[in-house]
Amino acid sequence: MKLDGRVALVTGAAGGIGAAVARLFAGEGAHVICADVDRDRAFALAGELGEEAHGALLDVAARGDWDRLAEAIGERHGRLDVLVNNAGISGMGDVDSIDTAFWERFQRINGDSIFHSVQALAPLLRASDHAAIVNVGSLLALRPNAALPAYCAAKASLRAQTKAYALHFAERGEYIRVNAVHPGSTLTPMMEANLGNTGEEREANYARRVALHPLGAATGRIVLPEDVAKAVLFLSCEDSAFVTGIDLPVDGGASIAN
Ligand code: NAD
Repeated sequence: MKLDGRVALVTGAAGGIGAAVARLFAGEGAHVICADVDRDRAFALAGELGEEAHGALLDVAARGDWDRLAEAIGERHGRLDVLVNNAGISGMGDVDSIDTAFWERFQRINGDSIFHSVQALAPLLRASDHAAIVNVGSLLALRPNAALPAYCAAKASLRAQTKAYALHFAERGEYIRVNAVHPGSTLTPMMEANLGNTGEEREANYARRVALHPLGAATGRIVLPEDVAKAVLFLSCEDSAFVTGIDLPVDGGASIAN
């Protein structure tokens, strides 16, 4: 088992990718803390994963929530081995159509939350002898899109912070690795909500997304939550012991396509 006995926190655990990560981690022997702003679903998932898992209510944009969670994890486990910053929101809106509140909401939830997370949990990560942080970014951090600049900018912030914190810890002689996984269009509630209303519309939009991913031609599909979870696991365990500060796209080649 790749995470035997390790203490792992997964944010956005009630969602598509987060739940896949939490399930995979539990199967690899981790004590998983399933955190989400959707308390009921986070606790339900933890219940499903068994006695070693716990639910936690967390709004990643609220610093007080991070501090309270850090205290609770400290009391229960005394350390944190794996931190997966996966929670996020999506939404369309080009620069002519969005307002300041929209912009700031995306920066707070998808970008600034990484700062709060790392700062609040650093003492517990330092108490681990092999800590790993994995931030879930997006293909759009690598290839911005005119239709959703607030999302792209926040995910670019996540990407830059990943590298800054990777260097920060390593250069201080602290073995805390920090990496990012960047999914392409992934079959989750977040993505399905954007496919459209009628069956025809949804089918056409799905086919368009398959075509955006070069491996879509070979497989007829887009990214699955389990594809992302396996990449997160790789960056969380000893298999990536000397890897820090990287971008790992899980996008069927979309980030390098013409
Ligand atoms: P999802 O909507 O299925 O799940 C997101 C989860 O985050 C939900 O459970 C939601 O309750 C939680 N959440 C939202 N705001 C929160 C907050 N303030 N505090 C705590 N939890 C909060 O989405 P998903 O597709 O599983 O996305 C997971 C991550 O992957 C996100 O960061 C997203 O940006 C990223 N991503 C998704 C796709 C995709 O196509 N689905 C593509 C690229 C990147």
